[in-house]
Amino acid sequence: MILLVKTGGAASLPEWQALFAELLPGLEVRWWDDPTVRPEDVAYAFVWAPEPGRLASFPNLRLVISSGAGVDHLLADDRLPAVPIAKMGAPEAVARMREYALATVLFHHRKFHRFIANQRVRRWEEAETTEAANRTVGIMGLGTLGLPAACALREAGFRVRAWARTERALEGIETFAGASALPAFLSSTEILLCLLAATPETTGILNARTFAMLPRGACVINAARGCHVVIPDLLAALESGQLEAATLDVFDVEPLPEDSPVWTHPMIFVTPHVASFPDRAARARFVAEAIRAFEVDGTVLNAFDPRRGY
Ligand code: NDP
Repeated sequence: MILLVKTGGAASLPEWQALFAELLPGLEVRWWDDPTVRPEDVAYAFVWAPEPGRLASFPNLRLVISSGAGVDHLLADDRLPAVPIAKMGAPEAVARMREYALATVLFHHRKFHRFIANQRVRRWEEAETTEAANRTVGIMGLGTLGLPAACALREAGFRVRAWARTERALEGIETFAGASALPAFLSSTEILLCLLAATPETTGILNARTFAMLPRGACVINAARGCHVVIPDLLAALESGQLEAATLDVFDVEPLPEDSPVWTHPMIFVTPHVASFPDRAARARFVAEAIRAFEVDGTVLNAFDPRRGY
């Protein structure tokens, strides 16, 4: 039985093999396009952005494990076989996103965006800041990553509200569900953090219309997928003062092209898709756990649900 790996570049294979030798002895680990692999021997694939049609060429494929929490890179394959997909859900991935949420929300809460922009032009200008208890942070998405991030922000003292597709009650977090509740959710959100799944419904959701629903001077953080933000609308909202600043970790095209106006905007802060990037050992532990759970009784950890689309 073979586990094919396509993540981190072919040069990373020896490291993956060493990690899996300890975690899953008995499983053969080979690189994705190794020509000596017999397609019928492939049982598992641990992949990022496989070439369309390639997964369908393995007749005995049992489980696909996405190297990222998102599956947009898999859904781009129009011949994706109907095998279960486990989305990366390593505890370390959750912890790293919690940190990113805290770091970026605190960054905007304490107006560091202004101080950094001022430093560039040697301007000494104080800004009034307030306590976390007086700041409302809104999280879009309450999934594997959004819920722990919302809880961490609540524990840091912020007033936290959250919006998702389905209703739920959470202690100390005001929750909103569905499209009809979006205006109410946004109306008091001073710092917005997007951790939504990428689906046709959420594509372009951060646009002129939704920015206008936020209080004037709000800040926006996108750590989910580039498709959520309409960049020209973001630039216009910053220009008009409707938004004060933004932090973006993800983009439609990555790496972000050199000529993107996002690079040079004084109130946009770019991180290179690093919000939650667990190391290889952590990802290997999750893959091993996913394969073991699947072999025991067919359980798919952190399963992609094709009906929901995430
Ligand atoms: P999940 O699938 O666990 O959660 C997705 C959330 O989106 C759920 O809360 C879901 O609502 C909500 N949602 C989906 N559709 C809608 C809709 N139409 N309206 C309202 N809410 C909706 O995803 P994860 O938490 O694992 O990942 C979140 C995002 O983070 C993904 O886009 C992923 O690709 C991205 N990501 C980014 C990384 C980075 O480094 N920047 C790293 C890893 C992931 P409900 O709870 O009701 O189902």
